Amino acid sequence: MQRLEVLARQLTAGAAVEDRTPLLATKEDYNQMYQRSIQDPEGFWGEMALGYHWERKFPARGHMAANTDVRRGPVSIQFFAGGTTNLSYNCLDRWVAAGRGEQAAIIWEGNDENERRTVSYRELLAEVNRLSNWLKSRGVKKGDAVTIYLPMVPELPAAMLACARVGAVHSVVFAGFSADSLAQRMVDCNAKVLLTATGVMRGSKPVLLKTIADDAVKLAAKAGQETSSLLCLEVANALAAADTPWNPVRDVWWHTAIPIQSAECPPTWLEAEDRSFLLYTSGSTGKPKGVVHCTGGYMVGVGVSCRYLYDMRPGDVVFTTADCGWITGHSYLAYGPLLCGCSAVIMGGIPTHPDGGRAWRMVERYKVRQFYTAPTLLRSLLQLGDAWPRQSDLSSLRVLASAGEPMNEHAWHWFHEVVGGSRCPVVDTWWQTETGNAMMSPLPCNWFLAKAGSAGVPFFGVCPVLLDPTTGNEICATEAEGVLALRGVWPGMMRTLHGDHERFESVYFAPYKGYYFTGDGARRDADGHYWITGRVDDVINVSGHRIGTAEVESSLTEHPDCAEAAVIGVDHALKGQAIYAFVTLRGHVQAGDAMRKLLLDHVRKSIGPFAVPEVIHWAPGLPKTRSGKIMRRVLRKIASGQEKELGDISTLAEPGVVEMLIKLRGK
Ligand code: ATP
Ligand code: MG
Repeated sequence: MQRLEVLARQLTAGAAVEDRTPLLATKEDYNQMYQRSIQDPEGFWGEMALGYHWERKFPARGHMAANTDVRRGPVSIQFFAGGTTNLSYNCLDRWVAAGRGEQAAIIWEGNDENERRTVSYRELLAEVNRLSNWLKSRGVKKGDAVTIYLPMVPELPAAMLACARVGAVHSVVFAGFSADSLAQRMVDCNAKVLLTATGVMRGSKPVLLKTIADDAVKLAAKAGQETSSLLCLEVANALAAADTPWNPVRDVWWHTAIPIQSAECPPTWLEAEDRSFLLYTSGSTGKPKGVVHCTGGYMVGVGVSCRYLYDMRPGDVVFTTADCGWITGHSYLAYGPLLCGCSAVIMGGIPTHPDGGRAWRMVERYKVRQFYTAPTLLRSLLQLGDAWPRQSDLSSLRVLASAGEPMNEHAWHWFHEVVGGSRCPVVDTWWQTETGNAMMSPLPCNWFLAKAGSAGVPFFGVCPVLLDPTTGNEICATEAEGVLALRGVWPGMMRTLHGDHERFESVYFAPYKGYYFTGDGARRDADGHYWITGRVDDVINVSGHRIGTAEVESSLTEHPDCAEAAVIGVDHALKGQAIYAFVTLRGHVQAGDAMRKLLLDHVRKSIGPFAVPEVIHWAPGLPKTRSGKIMRRVLRKIASGQEKELGDISTLAEPGVVEMLIKLRGK
């Protein structure tokens, strides 16, 4: 207990950057804290929350309440009730007051490597205040939704923080979505204010965001949703202000409206359970859901996970390659690092532009300590060869983090050995938009034995259980495999789906009564480490043998000639289902029957004959969402020749891939 208080105090503003005392020095430390978080969540999180500023303190007891059992009534979750706080205050004012005003809050590089900007904590606070005042002048009040459709520039996190400051609920829409997708999201949350930019260069391609935003506003109006204000940021190189289509009644230039605002704006103190933001999930499994996150719980969940899982301390330089349009960008690029007093590195362009060394040069330039990425990006960087990371001095790196998809062994080793020089822990965390913060993870501690491809152990307050998919019963044996569900609640958890509490209950709490259903399958090994086997709907049943698509995929990608693989199940007259694999070969490798045989033999040896794909479909590229996830429902349609019924593919990064795959079927 005493120890916890000390740790909580370390989380507060003044902690010195040199203080590198390991937070979980021994396995016992972890066990003790973890057990406490499960046995007494209210007390545990109450103490953890002391590391943040509360304008009105929540009571030590009675602040937490939850029902996750649909049989007992509506699902509801609350933490820190009675307390008031503000996320932007905890991200900014607190650090300025602690003497970190001149430290970089954001270090930004654009698409062009020579475009660079550093924004100090003091400057960021002033910009956030000006934006907050502008939002207020436009009538935005606590609880109102604001849609943000901006490229990766420092103004994007500033806009998020400004919403947080005035209590507006932001909905960041990735600036690669189409007008349709943007409109759909604006209508769903009734956003009257839209923040956007003239455009952005992506690689060598300009994307005209304002034009897309205009189209979205028109589409939204058709659906009865009027946008009263549109704030537009001029982004150099993309499109000149003079050439930008303009609606003088509705549109306002950032560079004229914001600088004239006052740089002072007191935060609006929010109840812990007041809404903080909405985020629509990527939609790799259907119609996007508006996940709702609240103020206090999200702040504590994200802040504490940054400290314990990624070892973020004040002054650290954190480079997260995710876009703010995704949950990783919210939790571990914008809010998390700032809650910890770190400097957040943002890359405006793509990591392979102008060449494969871009990300590594940035690591060297800014002495990045934590590098946080996703397997899809790792695989594309890895394909470009070891020479790129070797050209840069990566010795500042201490923690290598990843999330979003299973990491295959090959990528894990490359990350660990080539990027991290076998020095840095690889923190491959499993979590979801819905969970708010990381849920299961290897620990960045010397004593922790990380295993390539495993999502490690549960974070504080997380109680994973494996359920039998047919009976729904909990499987108690340590070594087991089943449907991954979570018992209990944690502060960072979503509270509802916007406008559809019923869907929230039916998707997450009805399938297995009394548990939060993750949609993923997992295996627990003898050491209690978890291995994500893929989504449960991605389990293929071949002649009664159940196998996760992720397992077959990782076997295929173990083969040195295979760059990427996506596996789905297709109906089969005899076997029930058969395995169908889409395979992308490395650049220099020739597709053909000889190659096919090599891959099949490899799977046969590594998993067993039952896992050998029935079909290998050559795929120069795979249909992915803009966050880099493979859209399996599209692959299923292509494999079964139902390309007329592809459904909504507006979230596809490169729609052209679909045509190409259809042509290659049977080749
Ligand atoms: P949608 O819910 O709309 O289909 P999504 O699930 O792709 O979208 P996210 O919330 O970003 O959107 O992703 C969470 C999912 O990503 C998890 O449920 C899991 O399937 C996968 N995932 C995340 N991290 C890991 C990891 N470290 N290892 C394996 N899988 C992971
Ligand atoms: Mg999901």
